[in-house]
Amino acid sequence: MAWFKRERKPIAPVEKSSRVPEGLWIKCPGCGQTLYNKDLVANLFVCPSCSHHLRMKAVDRLRALFDAEWNEHDRALRSTDPLRFVDTKSYGDRLAAGLQATGMPDAVVVGSGQLDGQHVVIAAMEYAFIGGSMGVVVGEKLTRAVEQALARRVPVIIVSCSGGARMMEGTLSLVQMAKVSAALARLDRAGVPFISVLTDPTTGGVTASFAMLGDVNIAEPKALIGFAGPRVIEQTIRQTLPEGFQRSEFLLEHGMLDMVVDRRELKATIARTLAFMRPPPEPASASARLTAASS
Ligand SMILES: [Zn+2]
Repeated sequence: MAWFKRERKPIAPVEKSSRVPEGLWIKCPGCGQTLYNKDLVANLFVCPSCSHHLRMKAVDRLRALFDAEWNEHDRALRSTDPLRFVDTKSYGDRLAAGLQATGMPDAVVVGSGQLDGQHVVIAAMEYAFIGGSMGVVVGEKLTRAVEQALARRVPVIIVSCSGGARMMEGTLSLVQMAKVSAALARLDRAGVPFISVLTDPTTGGVTASFAMLGDVNIAEPKALIGFAGPRVIEQTIRQTLPEGFQRSEFLLEHGMLDMVVDRRELKATIARTLAFMRPPPEPASASARLTAASS
């Protein structure tokens, strides 16, 4: 009997999913179909059967928009946890967990390179880093991105994916809204384009500042976009909210957005929009025309 007992003991129930290498298959939240991760990457994380837009990593965003390599900017900026903030756990631990989960020191990545042959600066927010929230580092990196674009006179594209301001930095996170908006106002006065791309979700202080300030505001299909959550609004106005409230399509219909664009068409749409906004080439000066005529 001894051999029998020994034989049985090590056989623990095996979870079916654990037989598959992690991350190989993903279940679509839209239609429930099991999708092969590699196919999903090739399709920019859009479900091939129902077109559900899955959340995308910030670095995959840059990869999808830039033509080739890009230069990353201000990677070393890190939050100093100025308030020594603690809620259910310390902010310091949250920052460390964010770094561990994403390999990024904060919730935005900024790069410069080319999009369809045109020089641009692109910033993409990372939801997996404390809900893509905007603290001092995110605000500073976005401001520097805009300032750099202004100095070089190249367009800026910001891809938002954020729960809003980072409460662990209190007022310091709220002033980032004004800081980034002020930089964008300078960009606007200089006539340099800013395209805002709103993805699921874009809420709170991000919606209330730069995400809605684009010369063109483009959203992905069915993205949640809003300031306060629906429950808070219902309690405040004491009315039931309409179907599809705070989704891209509803906002487009009510004049809050310029376009709702499928992610697979996003790069081409941005390229076309930038080409449309590009100033016409300088007309040849009178003297140059005369020289040309006399030769
Ligand atoms: Zn699907």
